[in-house]
Amino acid sequence: METERDQLYIDGNWSVPSGTDNLEVENPTTQEVMGSIPQGDAQDVDRAVRAAHSALHDWWAVPATERAAMCAKVAEGLQARQGELADLITSELGMPHMLSTLIQTGLPSLTFGSMPEVLSQTEIESEIGNALVVREPRGVVAAITPWNYPLHQIALKLAPALTAGNTVVLKPSEITPLNAFMLFEVLDEVGFPKGVVNLVTGTGPVVGQALAEHPLVDMITFTGSTGTGRRLGEVAARDVKRLALELGGKSANIILDDADLQRAVTDGISKCFLNSGQTCIALTRMLVPESKLDEVNQIAENVASAQKVGDPFEEGVALGPLVSADQRERVRNYIDKGVAEGAKLLTGGTEAPAGLDTGYFVQPTVFTNVSNDSTIAQEEIFGPVLSIIPFRDEAHAVELANDSPYGLAGAVWSGDDARALDVAKRIRTGQIEVNGGSFNPAAPFGGFKQSGHGREAGVFGLEEFFEVKAILR
Ligand code: NAD
Repeated sequence: METERDQLYIDGNWSVPSGTDNLEVENPTTQEVMGSIPQGDAQDVDRAVRAAHSALHDWWAVPATERAAMCAKVAEGLQARQGELADLITSELGMPHMLSTLIQTGLPSLTFGSMPEVLSQTEIESEIGNALVVREPRGVVAAITPWNYPLHQIALKLAPALTAGNTVVLKPSEITPLNAFMLFEVLDEVGFPKGVVNLVTGTGPVVGQALAEHPLVDMITFTGSTGTGRRLGEVAARDVKRLALELGGKSANIILDDADLQRAVTDGISKCFLNSGQTCIALTRMLVPESKLDEVNQIAENVASAQKVGDPFEEGVALGPLVSADQRERVRNYIDKGVAEGAKLLTGGTEAPAGLDTGYFVQPTVFTNVSNDSTIAQEEIFGPVLSIIPFRDEAHAVELANDSPYGLAGAVWSGDDARALDVAKRIRTGQIEVNGGSFNPAAPFGGFKQSGHGREAGVFGLEEFFEVKAILR
């Protein structure tokens, strides 16, 4: 597995960056340097964007079905390297290996592979009276992605952008960047024309900023924190660039009084702690009836303290380390804040889990009797920290769930499906599951409120990368 990378992918070739600086990539389990990547700069960005701009018209002229078929070939290439990719992502990110295989590498190949089917469900041309309505690519797309589901986030942007006829410059997260190099080896093997896909690595303020600001970029598609999203919104507004933002979350899991508590609480804990809580749709606020609080506390304490924390390559481990020392520090500060603001710590805390002094591990932590106004209930922590918040009745539960600056995801549990559905419809989020409804990779994904705008995945995700033109005859 190659982890020392010193070239960028620009205009169809692996190419020497303009500078000589490198960024180290750390393994969060061992705290050892496991590789390095080029620190690109504005000159590299300029070369990549110009290549993408030059390639645009020829790529757009390729029939959409052929573009989608090339994406399906990418899926085959990713599947062929699934084991290697899962090893790599578990090493750079710390997610348990079984989950890396399923989610971090399985989902990206599903996304690329779904493009022919998704395209077949989209009307590229339609008519409204004398208007021929056509969908055209937006142009050069700048894709900027985070570290937590690195390849999945990249696939959700690249596959539909390319299928829609756009050309792309990708700036992956500098914290988990190595998987992007493997993807670009696959893209190279599949044989996309020169300039259609480009990779420039480096830090956000240097490469990300230069890319977003480049005058030849037509659209910015970003997944990451709300703070960076806000900044990119300002950049996009200056030149009226198209913008898609997938940002943070603070999702509520409403467990109504008639729900199967054992099932709902167990499921909720696993969806809060997935990827050690570093998941934008993590169900971090568990809303429960006041009358059931003691019972819920008991179940939550048992389930959370039984989660196995440790080496993500070890079988049976549910939580690996957090991605970095900074991330662990940030999470520990939130745990301290929770205690300081008066929430009751049921299990977990700021101490490293027993026997895990090396690696950025954090104990699965559960607070109860949390006020929805408190910092830990309002801000995204991005670590394995659950807040249990009591409610008086159903109306109060809905009010608390919606009392958040975010609107990404959520869940409702009830013994009565119709009741759960009715409550789900009153929650202001882009996705919500009912009674454990499973993740659907073709369903529209995205946020209300400060969780962003635009949608990814399936036909809605493809739609995002088209301009719509009316030709009047
Ligand atoms: P981040 O905002 O720090 O970084 C995301 C990307 O933006 C990185 O590639 C980074 O280098 C780049 N960047 C940073 N500053 C920039 C700047 N000034 N200009 C341009 N680019 C810049 O986010 P992160 O820490 O990598 O990811 C965690 C966040 O992502 C969490 O808030 C999480 O909720 C969010 N997220 C959201 C979704 C979603 O779909 N809604 C999915 C995954 C993660």
